[in-house]
Amino acid sequence: MTVRVGQGFDVHPWSDDPGRRLVLGGVVLDGERGLAGHSDADVVAHAVADALLGAAGLGDIGAHFPDTDSRWRGADSLTLLAEVMRLVRAEGWSVANIDATVILEAPRLAPHKGAMEERLKEVVGAPVSVKAKRAEGLGALGRGEGVACFAVALLER
Ligand SMILES: [Zn+2]
Repeated sequence: MTVRVGQGFDVHPWSDDPGRRLVLGGVVLDGERGLAGHSDADVVAHAVADALLGAAGLGDIGAHFPDTDSRWRGADSLTLLAEVMRLVRAEGWSVANIDATVILEAPRLAPHKGAMEERLKEVVGAPVSVKAKRAEGLGALGRGEGVACFAVALLER
């Protein structure tokens, strides 16, 4: 068996648009300020997608889903992630596991982590763990200006 590892990173600033929803790992966090971005700005799904593409040697989501393409405006990022999985599976890969760390000051993710892990697991067909971490006041993330996510994916075939 061959295994390949990939890592992904993404960051989005908070949006000033009161109509935008906060979507993290495919879960809508009701009543929270949304993130700015071309799609639904699901920073967790994007980091996971980049980790998968990187592991498979298939480039990055910017190449597959350019923000100049109106098809992806406001797109559900789990749909993008499902498309990434289609590309990854077409190369004969399956996912062993995914581990993600979300960096944000607020809101607290603990009540939503389980649902995020379930939604992501449904799409990638493997265990996903989601962890949350504060930036301890350091830099833009520490000032609560947005949300970032790191993800690692392990593929096998
Ligand atoms: Zn993104």
